[in-house]
Amino acid sequence: MKLKQLEMTLQKAKGYAKPRPSLEQYMTPAPLAARLLYHALMKGDIEGKTVCDLGSGTGVLAIGAALLGAESVKGVEKDPNAVVVAKENAALFGADVEFITADVLDKTLPEKIGPCDTVIMNPPFGAQKIHADRPFIDLALTAAPVVYSIFNAGSTPFVKVYIRKRAEVAEQVGSAFAIKRTFAFHTRDVREFEVEILRLIRKH
Ligand code: SAH
Repeated sequence: MKLKQLEMTLQKAKGYAKPRPSLEQYMTPAPLAARLLYHALMKGDIEGKTVCDLGSGTGVLAIGAALLGAESVKGVEKDPNAVVVAKENAALFGADVEFITADVLDKTLPEKIGPCDTVIMNPPFGAQKIHADRPFIDLALTAAPVVYSIFNAGSTPFVKVYIRKRAEVAEQVGSAFAIKRTFAFHTRDVREFEVEILRLIRKH
Protein backbone atom coordinates (compact mmCIF):
# COMPACT_ATOMS: atom_id res chain seq x y z
CA MET A 1 0.00 0.00 0.00
CA LYS A 2 1.35 3.42 -1.00
CA LEU A 3 1.70 6.28 1.47
CA LYS A 4 -1.10 8.32 -0.12
CA GLN A 5 -3.40 5.32 -0.17
CA LEU A 6 -2.69 4.60 3.49
CA GLU A 7 -3.43 8.21 4.37
CA MET A 8 -6.72 8.18 2.46
CA THR A 9 -7.76 4.93 4.11
CA LEU A 10 -6.96 6.12 7.64
CA GLN A 11 -8.87 9.33 6.90
CA LYS A 12 -12.04 7.24 6.91
CA ALA A 13 -11.53 5.94 10.45
CA LYS A 14 -14.09 6.98 13.03
CA GLY A 15 -12.97 9.15 15.94
CA TYR A 16 -13.95 9.27 19.61
CA ALA A 17 -17.69 9.51 20.25
CA LYS A 18 -17.02 11.66 23.32
CA PRO A 19 -13.34 12.52 23.70
CA ARG A 20 -12.16 12.75 27.32
CA PRO A 21 -9.80 15.66 28.01
CA SER A 22 -8.32 14.03 31.12
CA LEU A 23 -7.01 11.18 28.94
CA GLU A 24 -5.81 13.58 26.21
CA GLN A 25 -7.90 11.82 23.61
CA TYR A 26 -6.85 13.32 20.31
CA MET A 27 -7.06 11.05 17.33
CA THR A 28 -3.84 11.19 15.34
CA PRO A 29 -4.69 12.91 12.04
CA ALA A 30 -4.35 10.55 9.07
CA PRO A 31 -1.38 12.36 7.43
CA LEU A 32 0.65 12.22 10.66
CA ALA A 33 -0.32 8.60 11.40
CA ALA A 34 0.57 7.60 7.83
CA ARG A 35 3.88 9.43 8.08
CA LEU A 36 4.92 7.65 11.26
CA LEU A 37 3.82 4.28 9.92
CA TYR A 38 5.49 4.69 6.54
CA HIS A 39 8.71 5.82 8.13
CA ALA A 40 8.68 2.73 10.35
CA LEU A 41 7.87 0.54 7.34
CA MET A 42 10.84 1.91 5.39
CA LYS A 43 13.07 1.18 8.38
CA GLY A 44 11.93 -2.46 8.28
CA ASP A 45 10.08 -2.19 11.58
CA ILE A 46 6.52 -3.08 10.44
CA GLU A 47 6.32 -5.72 7.73
CA GLY A 48 6.41 -9.23 9.20
CA LYS A 49 6.90 -7.77 12.70
CA THR A 50 4.91 -8.02 15.91
CA VAL A 51 3.70 -4.51 16.63
CA CYS A 52 2.13 -2.99 19.76
CA ASP A 53 0.27 0.33 19.90
CA LEU A 54 0.09 1.81 23.42
CA GLY A 55 -2.90 4.10 24.08
CA SER A 56 -4.40 2.89 20.82
CA GLY A 57 -7.54 5.04 21.10
CA THR A 58 -9.75 4.54 18.07
CA GLY A 59 -7.04 2.46 16.47
CA VAL A 60 -5.53 4.38 13.53
CA LEU A 61 -1.89 3.51 14.24
CA ALA A 62 -2.58 -0.14 15.05
CA ILE A 63 -4.84 -0.58 12.03
CA GLY A 64 -2.34 1.14 9.75
CA ALA A 65 0.40 -1.24 10.93
CA ALA A 66 -1.82 -4.22 10.14
CA LEU A 67 -2.59 -2.83 6.67
CA LEU A 68 1.14 -2.43 6.03
CA GLY A 69 1.77 -6.12 6.62
CA ALA A 70 2.66 -6.49 10.31
CA GLU A 71 2.63 -10.12 11.37
CA SER A 72 0.45 -9.34 14.38
CA VAL A 73 -0.76 -6.15 16.03
CA LYS A 74 -1.96 -5.49 19.56
CA GLY A 75 -3.48 -2.25 20.79
CA VAL A 76 -3.66 -1.31 24.47
CA GLU A 77 -6.24 1.28 25.53
CA LYS A 78 -7.68 2.26 28.91
CA ASP A 79 -11.02 3.62 27.68
CA PRO A 80 -13.46 0.82 26.81
CA ASN A 81 -15.57 3.20 24.67
CA ALA A 82 -12.54 3.95 22.48
CA VAL A 83 -11.87 0.21 22.17
CA VAL A 84 -15.40 -0.30 20.81
CA VAL A 85 -14.76 2.32 18.09
CA ALA A 86 -11.29 0.84 17.37
CA LYS A 87 -12.82 -2.60 16.81
CA GLU A 88 -15.42 -1.10 14.45
CA ASN A 89 -12.66 0.67 12.52
CA ALA A 90 -10.59 -2.52 12.27
CA ALA A 91 -13.62 -4.42 10.96
CA LEU A 92 -14.33 -1.64 8.45
CA PHE A 93 -10.82 -1.91 6.99
CA GLY A 94 -10.51 -5.69 7.36
CA ALA A 95 -7.49 -5.20 9.66
CA ASP A 96 -6.58 -7.95 12.08
CA VAL A 97 -5.79 -6.24 15.40
CA GLU A 98 -6.22 -7.49 18.96
CA PHE A 99 -7.38 -4.62 21.18
CA ILE A 100 -6.79 -5.03 24.90
CA THR A 101 -8.62 -2.82 27.39
CA ALA A 102 -6.00 -2.01 30.02
CA ASP A 103 -4.09 0.80 31.73
CA VAL A 104 -0.43 1.12 30.73
CA LEU A 105 0.30 1.26 34.48
CA ASP A 106 -0.89 -2.34 34.83
CA LYS A 107 2.24 -4.21 35.89
CA THR A 108 1.05 -7.46 34.32
CA LEU A 109 0.84 -5.88 30.85
CA PRO A 110 4.36 -6.73 29.63
CA GLU A 111 3.48 -10.37 30.19
CA LYS A 112 0.05 -9.99 28.59
CA ILE A 113 1.22 -8.28 25.43
CA GLY A 114 4.46 -10.28 25.33
CA PRO A 115 7.60 -8.91 23.79
CA CYS A 116 6.90 -7.09 20.51
CA ASP A 117 9.36 -6.13 17.78
CA THR A 118 8.09 -2.57 17.47
CA VAL A 119 6.00 -0.19 19.58
CA ILE A 120 4.15 2.65 17.87
CA MET A 121 2.34 5.24 19.94
CA ASN A 122 0.91 8.70 20.29
CA PRO A 123 0.78 8.97 24.06
CA PRO A 124 -0.76 11.79 26.10
CA PHE A 125 1.69 14.70 25.95
CA GLY A 126 1.20 15.52 29.59
CA ALA A 127 -0.80 18.68 28.90
CA GLN A 128 -3.46 17.69 31.43
CA LYS A 129 -1.37 15.58 33.77
CA ILE A 130 2.33 16.23 34.04
CA HIS A 131 4.55 13.34 32.93
CA ALA A 132 1.55 11.40 31.64
CA ASP A 133 3.79 10.11 28.83
CA ARG A 134 6.27 8.45 31.18
CA PRO A 135 4.41 5.19 31.88
CA PHE A 136 3.99 4.85 28.12
CA ILE A 137 7.73 5.27 27.53
CA ASP A 138 8.47 2.81 30.35
CA LEU A 139 6.14 0.12 29.03
CA ALA A 140 7.26 0.70 25.43
CA LEU A 141 10.92 0.17 26.29
CA THR A 142 10.08 -2.91 28.35
CA ALA A 143 8.04 -4.41 25.53
CA ALA A 144 10.13 -3.61 22.43
CA PRO A 145 13.67 -2.83 21.25
CA VAL A 146 12.37 -0.19 18.79
CA VAL A 147 9.81 2.49 19.61
CA TYR A 148 8.19 5.16 17.44
CA SER A 149 6.43 7.83 19.40
CA ILE A 150 4.93 11.27 18.82
CA PHE A 151 5.88 14.08 21.22
CA ASN A 152 5.35 17.81 21.44
CA ALA A 153 8.03 19.71 19.53
CA GLY A 154 10.87 20.57 21.88
CA SER A 155 10.46 17.44 24.01
CA THR A 156 13.49 15.60 22.65
CA PRO A 157 16.04 16.85 25.23
CA PHE A 158 13.71 15.82 28.07
CA VAL A 159 12.99 12.44 26.51
CA LYS A 160 16.73 11.88 26.03
CA VAL A 161 17.42 12.54 29.70
CA TYR A 162 14.50 10.39 30.84
CA ILE A 163 15.55 7.35 28.78
CA ARG A 164 19.33 7.84 28.86
CA LYS A 165 20.20 4.61 30.65
CA ARG A 166 17.75 2.51 28.67
CA ALA A 167 17.60 3.81 25.11
CA GLU A 168 18.80 6.41 22.66
CA VAL A 169 17.01 8.71 20.27
CA ALA A 170 18.05 7.34 16.90
CA GLU A 171 15.97 9.71 14.79
CA GLN A 172 13.84 12.77 15.08
CA VAL A 173 11.32 13.71 12.38
CA GLY A 174 9.49 17.00 12.66
CA SER A 175 5.83 17.18 11.66
CA ALA A 176 2.69 19.18 12.32
CA PHE A 177 -0.42 18.04 14.10
CA ALA A 178 -3.69 19.84 13.33
CA ILE A 179 -6.50 19.36 15.78
CA LYS A 180 -10.06 20.53 15.40
CA ARG A 181 -11.82 22.22 18.27
CA THR A 182 -12.44 19.28 20.57
CA PHE A 183 -12.86 20.54 24.09
CA ALA A 184 -14.63 23.55 25.56
CA PHE A 185 -11.34 25.11 26.67
CA HIS A 186 -10.11 25.26 23.07
CA THR A 187 -10.41 28.78 21.75
CA ARG A 188 -9.81 28.24 18.04
CA ASP A 189 -11.59 26.02 15.52
CA VAL A 190 -8.41 24.44 14.25
CA ARG A 191 -5.10 24.57 15.98
CA GLU A 192 -1.90 23.36 14.47
CA PHE A 193 0.99 22.42 16.64
CA GLU A 194 4.42 21.14 15.95
CA VAL A 195 5.32 17.63 16.92
CA GLU A 196 8.27 15.30 16.68
CA ILE A 197 8.24 11.65 15.77
CA LEU A 198 11.08 9.98 17.65
CA ARG A 199 12.58 6.59 16.95
CA LEU A 200 14.00 5.14 20.15
CA ILE A 201 16.40 2.23 20.16
CA ARG A 202 16.82 0.24 23.33
CA LYS A 203 20.33 -0.23 24.66
CA HIS A 204 21.33 -3.80 25.35
N1 SAH B 1 -3.19 6.25 19.47
C1 SAH B 1 -4.46 6.91 19.22
C2 SAH B 1 -4.91 7.80 20.38
C3 SAH B 1 -3.96 8.88 20.83
S1 SAH B 1 -4.60 9.81 22.21
C4 SAH B 1 -4.37 7.65 17.92
O1 SAH B 1 -3.26 7.69 17.42
O2 SAH B 1 -5.35 8.19 17.41
C5 SAH B 1 -3.92 8.96 23.63
C6 SAH B 1 -4.73 7.71 24.02
O3 SAH B 1 -4.14 7.18 25.22
C7 SAH B 1 -6.19 7.97 24.35
O4 SAH B 1 -7.02 7.10 23.63
C8 SAH B 1 -6.30 7.70 25.86
O5 SAH B 1 -7.56 7.18 26.24
C9 SAH B 1 -5.19 6.70 26.06
N2 SAH B 1 -4.68 6.67 27.43
C10 SAH B 1 -4.45 7.73 28.26
N3 SAH B 1 -3.94 7.31 29.43
C11 SAH B 1 -3.87 5.93 29.34
C12 SAH B 1 -3.40 4.91 30.22
N4 SAH B 1 -2.94 5.22 31.44
N5 SAH B 1 -3.43 3.63 29.81
C13 SAH B 1 -3.89 3.30 28.56
N6 SAH B 1 -4.36 4.22 27.69
C14 SAH B 1 -4.34 5.53 28.06
